[in-house]
Amino acid sequence: MKENVAKRLAFFASEEFEEKFRYDGKDLGAVCREGRTVFKVWSPLAERVELRLYRDGVSESCLRQEMQAGEKGVWSLEFEESLHGMYYDYVVRIEGRDVPTGDPYAVGCGCNGDRSMVADLRLTDLPGFREDRAPKLCGEQIIYELHIKDFSYDRDSGIPEEYRGKYKAFTVRGTGGSYPTCMEYLKSLGVTHVHLLPFFDYGSVDEAGDEGQFNWGYDPKNYNVPEGSYATDAADGLIRIRECKEMIQAFHENGMRVVMDVVYNHTHREDSWFQRMVPDYYYRYLEDGSLSNGSACGNDVAAGRSMVDNYIADSVMYWAKEYHIDGFRFDLMGLLTVELMNRICRELEDQFGPGEKMLYGEPWSADFSPLEEGTMAAEKQNAGYLEDYIAIFSDDTRDAIKGSVFRGEEPGFVNGGKGLEQSILQAAAGWRLGGACFLPKSCRQIVNYVSAHDNFTLWDKLVISMHPQEADFDKMYEDVLEANKLAAFIYFTCQGNLFLQAGEEFGRSKQGEDNSYSSSPELNMIRWHRTVEYGDLVEYYKGLIRLRKRLPGLCDKSPEAGRRITCGSVHRKGVVSFLLDNRSEGACEWDEVFIVYNASARACRTPLPKEAGGGLWEVLADGLETDCRKQARIEDHSVRVPARSGMMFGHRCPG
Ligand code: CA
Repeated sequence: MKENVAKRLAFFASEEFEEKFRYDGKDLGAVCREGRTVFKVWSPLAERVELRLYRDGVSESCLRQEMQAGEKGVWSLEFEESLHGMYYDYVVRIEGRDVPTGDPYAVGCGCNGDRSMVADLRLTDLPGFREDRAPKLCGEQIIYELHIKDFSYDRDSGIPEEYRGKYKAFTVRGTGGSYPTCMEYLKSLGVTHVHLLPFFDYGSVDEAGDEGQFNWGYDPKNYNVPEGSYATDAADGLIRIRECKEMIQAFHENGMRVVMDVVYNHTHREDSWFQRMVPDYYYRYLEDGSLSNGSACGNDVAAGRSMVDNYIADSVMYWAKEYHIDGFRFDLMGLLTVELMNRICRELEDQFGPGEKMLYGEPWSADFSPLEEGTMAAEKQNAGYLEDYIAIFSDDTRDAIKGSVFRGEEPGFVNGGKGLEQSILQAAAGWRLGGACFLPKSCRQIVNYVSAHDNFTLWDKLVISMHPQEADFDKMYEDVLEANKLAAFIYFTCQGNLFLQAGEEFGRSKQGEDNSYSSSPELNMIRWHRTVEYGDLVEYYKGLIRLRKRLPGLCDKSPEAGRRITCGSVHRKGVVSFLLDNRSEGACEWDEVFIVYNASARACRTPLPKEAGGGLWEVLADGLETDCRKQARIEDHSVRVPARSGMMFGHRCPG
C-alpha cells in the first residue's frame, strides 16, 4: 500500500480522528433561505478552501472568496443575501495541491453535474407541493419497477415529443389514444408503489447530448440532485428539481407511492467530489492499497465510517423530506452495513412513523469488500439483525419459480424444473417455515418477485428455457403464456411484499438481452401497443392485484403469519397445494382459501380440504381468470386443475 494512503487510512480509523473531525451537524452544503446563504463543507485534511461563485453553469468568470476554518474540519462562509440560482464550486488545498471540486452535499447542479448550484428550495416547490401527501397505505405493498425513460420513449405512449423520456411525461393527463397508456395505464393496474430506477444525478449520459442515449443510471455523481437528462432543460439547474417534484406529486395524485432506487455503494468514478474533498476517506481499499471492487463498478463507498454513514443517512432523509419520497431500494445493500441500515430505518420511523417509508434492498454484493471493524454486511444471512421493516429481494422465491437468472435454459418450477415442490411451499410462507439459508423475522422482510431490470425479462427467460432451439421472442407461445400466468399466480399467493418489473404483465421482451443497462432506448422502452396485444395477460395481472388486496391471510406481515399456511402437500411432481387461514379482524370475504399450483404438463385432480361446516367453495382464480368467483363444480370433494395453471378456492365458515 502506498505509504501516504496507509497512513491516511490508519488516521481515519483512529479515535483521534473521530473526536476531532466527526461532524454531526445537518447543515453541510449551501443552505439558502430567507435572504441568507450559508456554505459549509467538511474537508478535514484541507489547508485552505476557496469558494467560487458563478452566474451560470458554464461561464469562467467567477467571484472567489476564501472560506473560514471551523471546528471538526468544517469550512464555512456566510452571505447576508439569497444566492438562489447561482452556481459554485470549491478549490481545496491538500498537501499543498489545489484541487477544484463540486460540493458532495449540493442540492442543485448545472449541466452534467459538474458545477454545484445554490437553491432556495422553497422556491422550487410547485403550487400544491407543500400540501402533497402520499396516498394512504393499503394492506399490501405491490411495487412496479420502472425506468423513467422506458416509460414514455415509445411514440405510442402518446406523450408529446418534448416530454418523452422525461419527468414531465408522468404529469400528462390522458394521452388521447384508443387505449390507456402511461399514468392512465398505471392507475388502472392497481399497484401501490412505483419504484423508479436511479434518478439522482448520474454520470453515464451526456446531458447536453442527444436523446438516443440510454443508461439505467447506476453511476451516481451528485447524490442529492435529480438527474438532468430527464429534465426538459438540463442547463438550468432549477428545472430538474421542479420537474422531479412535479413527477412525484403526479404519482401521489394518482394514488401511487414512489420508491427511489439509491446507489450508495459506489460512485461513477473514483475521482468523485468525495475523493477530491477528503482523499481516500470515502472508499474501501484492499491490503495492497488498490480500491476494493465489491460493486463490480470499480470502487466501494466505505459505509461503516462515521462521516460516510452520516452522508448516506442524511441523503436518504433529504429525499424523504424534500421530495416526499415514500421508500428506498438499496442497490447492492450487501455492501452497506446492518448498523447503517438500522439507523436509516430508525431515523425515518422517528420522523414519519413505522413502516411509512418502505425500505428494501439487494442483500448481496458483486464481490468481496473489506468492511470496517465491528460492522456487519447488510446481506441475506444477516437479515435477522436487520430491523423488521427492512426487506430484501428474495432470490430464493425468484429462482424456485422460474429458475436461475444466470443460466438462461435452467428452469424453475413453472417451466419444467424438477424437485422444487418443497421450495415453492416454503416460498408461500415467506420462508418463515424454513428452507432458505436464513430465517426472516417476518414475511415483511421478504420481497417476492420473478423479474427486475437485471437479467432476462420473465418473458425472455421463459422463451429461452421452454423453446431453447427456436427462441422467437415475438411469438406468442401458448405454453409460455401459461407459464407466465402461473409464475405470477404463485408469487401473488406468497406471503411477503410483491414486486414486478414494468411490462412483466404484458410479456415484455428485450429480445433475449439480459443486461440492457446501456442498450438502445428502443430495446429498453415500454412498447405500449403490447399492452393491447397481450391484453389478456394484463387483465390476468390486474385480477391478481385486486384479489391479493382481498386476502388478509396473504397480506399479513406479522411474525405469526406463516402459521396461517397449513396442509402443504405435494400431490405429484409439479403439483402442490396448501390451505390458508384468511380470517382477519376486519371484514373478510373468505375464511379459508385453498390454493393449488399445477406446473405439470397435464391436468390433475386434487381433493379439496374438508370444509368446516358445509359452506360452498367458490373458485376465486384459475389459469384463465383471476377474479371469477364461480362456484366450483365439486365432484367427490375434488377439483380438476388444468395443466400449467394455478387455482384458488375460497369459502366462508357458516355462522
Ligand atoms: Ca447526469
